[in-house]
Amino acid sequence: MNPTPLLEKARQLRADFPILSQAHPSGRPLIYFDNAATAQKPRVVIERLSAFLATQNANIHRGVHWLSQEATHLYEKARETVQHFLGAASPEEIIFVRGATEGINLIAQGLRRAYFQPGDEIILSTLEHHANIVPWQLVAEELPLRLKPLPLTSAGAVDVSALPDFLSPRTRLIAITHTSNGLGTRTPIEEIVAFAKAHDIPVLLDACQSIVHEAIDVQKLPVDFLVFSGHKLYGPTGVGVVYMRHPWGRKLPPYQGGGDMIVRVTWEKTRYAPPPAKFEAGTPAIAEAIVLATAIHYITDTVGYDFIQAYEAYLTDLAEALLRDVPGLTLYGTARPRGPIWSFNIEGIHPHDLGTFLDSWGIAVRVGHHCNQPLMDALGVPATARLSLAFYNLPEELQTLQEALLAAVEFFHKPLPSLRHE
Ligand code: PMP
Repeated sequence: MNPTPLLEKARQLRADFPILSQAHPSGRPLIYFDNAATAQKPRVVIERLSAFLATQNANIHRGVHWLSQEATHLYEKARETVQHFLGAASPEEIIFVRGATEGINLIAQGLRRAYFQPGDEIILSTLEHHANIVPWQLVAEELPLRLKPLPLTSAGAVDVSALPDFLSPRTRLIAITHTSNGLGTRTPIEEIVAFAKAHDIPVLLDACQSIVHEAIDVQKLPVDFLVFSGHKLYGPTGVGVVYMRHPWGRKLPPYQGGGDMIVRVTWEKTRYAPPPAKFEAGTPAIAEAIVLATAIHYITDTVGYDFIQAYEAYLTDLAEALLRDVPGLTLYGTARPRGPIWSFNIEGIHPHDLGTFLDSWGIAVRVGHHCNQPLMDALGVPATARLSLAFYNLPEELQTLQEALLAAVEFFHKPLPSLRHE
């Protein structure tokens, strides 16, 4: 493959991200490799937020005046953008929430009140983010429910061959991550969905780390629920999406009560609005939802998933080759297909020390448990360093990372000077 056209496009796109041209306080160029935590924002997103607040801001759904109608129109258009982005059948299936965490809590509490029975079971996986564990534990404590995490293969992917053994007559949901935020490995979700459909079990897909790297169409991948957060998809914080396949939105009760989610309130009884309004109590993140639509248009129309896939595949090969050349480095989870996210440790260096050392080189990586403590337990480590890439990262940044890692090995392995005076 000739990477030159890909590199040219990556360099052009990178210029859309003002934050990336800043220098780190050390004077070195800033190298941002913490994209799985949150992505940087292109200028169109920053400017759209500012323009909305400067010229179009009003509360939605409740006003007869011009600005309110304009804001309502934009908010509902944003919902349609998300609908088409995911291939959803109708805007009714798209619910704006604060983020993936709130989305999973909304679904978990809805299922708890309208679907689960005591003793039911949920299949998850060892890769889950805490956001796809703790909401189920909250429900499990009350009912009770049993949570059954699928194991991993030795290469760090979800072991789907274990699925038949995990199935029982009480299995009522499979809630699973698409791409691991800790290891980058991609769950064989097509197989899991086919298995679930064959046994009439609904599937919730945590698409936080996959939708950034691959297009998802809920007609081709017929999950029942899907969540993602706007801020990882180059949009603002404070907004995320729940896709809820019809008729789940009709079956589940509201998550919160308040304004905008009702048809009629009386002291005796309140009738709820149909979905999605039923799940959007109170004033939502209006500006953020509208700007999320701008981010989605930027990704699909300006960047393009074909480019993202091709360029990130190139970066993936390069990153793995460079990391493998660092003495004492252990890569956790090498399975393919994968997203451009890697966890690693270097022998004799605590990941927090490594993170601080890399920061002194202007390199931002995440260190810690990555909200993946059960995964860390399975790997037998308390923490890792995590490299996560976006389409604006460049090969020379990966070269600098390798140089910095080699320097870290030398620095941390240098014998301490003797303190004893002869
Ligand atoms: N799931 C996965 C796989 C994630 O990576 C994250 C964010 N790290 C979440 C869920 C939670 O997202 P948020 O904090 O934006 O709600």
